[in-house]
Amino acid sequence: MNYKNTFVRALGCSAAMLFSALTLAQMPSPEETEVKVAELSDNIYMLMGLGGNIALSTGPDGAFIVDDELKPMSAKLKAAIATVSPAPVKMIFNTHWHFDHAGGNEFFAGDGALIVAHDNVRQRMSATQFSTFFNSETPPSPDAALPVITFDNTATFYLNGQTIKAMHVPPAHTDGDSILIFEEANVVHLGDVFFNGMYPFIDINSGGSIAGMLEAIELIMPLLNEETKIIPGHGPAANLDDLRSYQSMLALVSARIQVLINEGKTKEQVVALRPSFNFDADWGWQFLPGEKWVGLIYDSLVDTPRELAVD
Ligand SMILES: [Zn+2]
Repeated sequence: MNYKNTFVRALGCSAAMLFSALTLAQMPSPEETEVKVAELSDNIYMLMGLGGNIALSTGPDGAFIVDDELKPMSAKLKAAIATVSPAPVKMIFNTHWHFDHAGGNEFFAGDGALIVAHDNVRQRMSATQFSTFFNSETPPSPDAALPVITFDNTATFYLNGQTIKAMHVPPAHTDGDSILIFEEANVVHLGDVFFNGMYPFIDINSGGSIAGMLEAIELIMPLLNEETKIIPGHGPAANLDDLRSYQSMLALVSARIQVLINEGKTKEQVVALRPSFNFDADWGWQFLPGEKWVGLIYDSLVDTPRELAVD
């Protein structure tokens, strides 16, 4: 599907920047990519470009955005925001530190925007980060790209007639994950805790784990209802049913893998047994096909096991 290709390209960009000239050749230029703007509620929009999805609140207090995607897309993103907001971006909230969600920080900070994120986002952006999965290093971000306001558990914004609650969740995709709730509008942005319709990447080096991801989803569920409009970190806009499908897929596959680990199976044996076989056609994608994703979940469960209920 198209959004899968878009994300593959986004990750292709990252891989290119990190290690591969071949991937660089396949990387689309930002000029080839349109930032799509969809209104989810009055003055609240979801924007989709090349990296992570963006939430935008517009109104008399100026534009407030959640995430600002890949750096080379900044000018395109600014232009897309300007189609619905006469005021510039006043504040940016980063759901986590990854460059496909915080890549525009420096650009928008240069325009006067304030950047807000969880304490661990600033910490990770301030130091070199290593990824075992990508076998790559991400250098520290320039000072201008760093969040200038950080928080530990929750923060509340009162902007454009909305009460916008930010909540740090248990380390899921990374240890700096936050979700955002636009209370009056009943819209949420779940960051990369939720990949809609795709196997999620889990950044184990950044403190993420599948166990934490399931914990975070359980914590989030009661805050949502059937009418909630959900912006996932990647994939199309979603509803509670989509999140439920994601949750049950994650719970089932990770339980199968945990059972195999508890039996003493090696990573190769677990991958060969295809514990995600009935989900691969729907949830697998170029960057994370079934066998690669199972390997990632195996590594996560060896690192942070799940406690399984015993019958
Ligand atoms: Zn991410």
